[in-house]
Amino acid sequence: MNRPAESSAPYTRPETVAVTVGRPPHAAGAPFNPPVQFASTYVGGADLDATIGYGRDGNPTWTALEEAVGTLEGGAALTFASGMAASQAVLELVEPGATVVLPRTCYLGVAAAVDARASRYGWSVRRVDVADTEAVLAAADGADLVWLESPTNPLIEVADLPRIGQELTGRVRLVVDNTFATPLLQRPLEHGASLVVHSMTKLLSGHSDVLLGAVVAPSDDPETLAALAEVRHSFGAIPGPMEAYLSLRGLRTLPLRMGRAQQNARVLAERLARHPAIRRVRFPGLPDDPAYERASRTMSGFGSLISVELADAETADALVDGCRLWVFATSLGGVESTLERRRRWPAELSSVPEGLVRMSVGIEHVEDLWDDLAQALEGLSGP
Ligand code: PLP
Repeated sequence: MNRPAESSAPYTRPETVAVTVGRPPHAAGAPFNPPVQFASTYVGGADLDATIGYGRDGNPTWTALEEAVGTLEGGAALTFASGMAASQAVLELVEPGATVVLPRTCYLGVAAAVDARASRYGWSVRRVDVADTEAVLAAADGADLVWLESPTNPLIEVADLPRIGQELTGRVRLVVDNTFATPLLQRPLEHGASLVVHSMTKLLSGHSDVLLGAVVAPSDDPETLAALAEVRHSFGAIPGPMEAYLSLRGLRTLPLRMGRAQQNARVLAERLARHPAIRRVRFPGLPDDPAYERASRTMSGFGSLISVELADAETADALVDGCRLWVFATSLGGVESTLERRRRWPAELSSVPEGLVRMSVGIEHVEDLWDDLAQALEGLSGP
C-alpha cells in the first residue's frame, strides 16, 4: 500500500510545487485532484469560524488554487474573478488623496483604473519609466503606493526589482504585477514587494479558457490579506469553482509550458532581429536589448513575450493578417502563439508605437512558428 503522505510536502522546487500543492492528502481511495465544489449555499449550524457560510466567502476549490499560487510566489494568495478584479481590490485599499506611482506604459486596463480612481478620489499620479530605477525611486519619495509591472505590457521593459524593493521596503507599499514573468522567473516578495498581482488568465492558467486573477501577500501580513478578502467579499468579484479548477490544472504544467515557450521565444527573437522588415525587436533575451543585463541579473529566464516594431500600422496589420498558425488575438500566455498590433485599441497608451506587434509565444514547434512568420513577413516593406 502506498504510504499515506501529506500532499503539500515541503518541496521548494517550482516543478514539484506545481505538481504537488493543492491536492487532497494521499489517503487510500482519495482522488488525486480536489473535487470541484459547486456551492453557493452551505447548511447552517456549524461553527462559523471553521466553515464557509456562503459561497461568496470561500470555496475549497479556490483554496487549493490559492495554496498553489501562494506557495509558488512565496506568500499567501487570494484569487479573484480576473486580473482586473485582483488589481481593483488592491487599488481599493488606497486612500483618497494618495500619491500613486505608475509605469508610463503598462497594461492599459490598470492604467485606466488608476486614472478613474485618481479623478474620483483626488489621487496624484506620478508616471515613470520602470526601467529608469533612479526615476522610480525619486517618484516613490513621499508616495503611498508604487505599482510596477515587470516585464511591462506591451513594451517588455524590465524593472530592477531587487534594487527598488530594497530601497522601498518599509517606506512605500510596492505592488508588482508579475503576470509576464510568473513566479518561475522572479518572486517579487523576496525582493521586498508588499503585494504581487497576477492575471492568471495568462501564463499561470495557460490554456486560454479561463479568466482569473490573484493577489499574493507576504505570509506575515495577514492584515492586508484580510483587507483584500473583505474587498473580494463585498464586491463579489470571486472566481467560479470551475475556473479555479481549470486554472489549477493548467498551473500543474506551468514549468513545462514556460520552459518550451521561452526556448521558442529566444530562437524567434534572434531570427526576427535579423529580418529586414523588422525595425526593432524588444525581447530581454537579446544581448543588445536595453533590458538584457538587468533581466540576466534579476530574472531566471527571459519569458515568452516578444514585441516587434514594423514600419507603420499598415505593415504591422499585414504581418498579423498574413499569419495562419499564429492566432490574431488580444490575450497572451496560452499554449497557442498569438499576436496583435496593440494600437488597434483606441485606449492603448500613446507610448506604444503604432507599428508595434506584441507576440505571445506558445509551445508549438519553433520551426512551424518561424515558417509562418517568415511567409507573413515576406514582401513587407522594411523600416
Ligand atoms: N495585468 C496584465 C499585465 C495584463 O496583461 C492583463 C490583461 O491582459 C491584466 C493585468 C488584466 O487581467 P484580466 O484580463 O485577467 O482581467
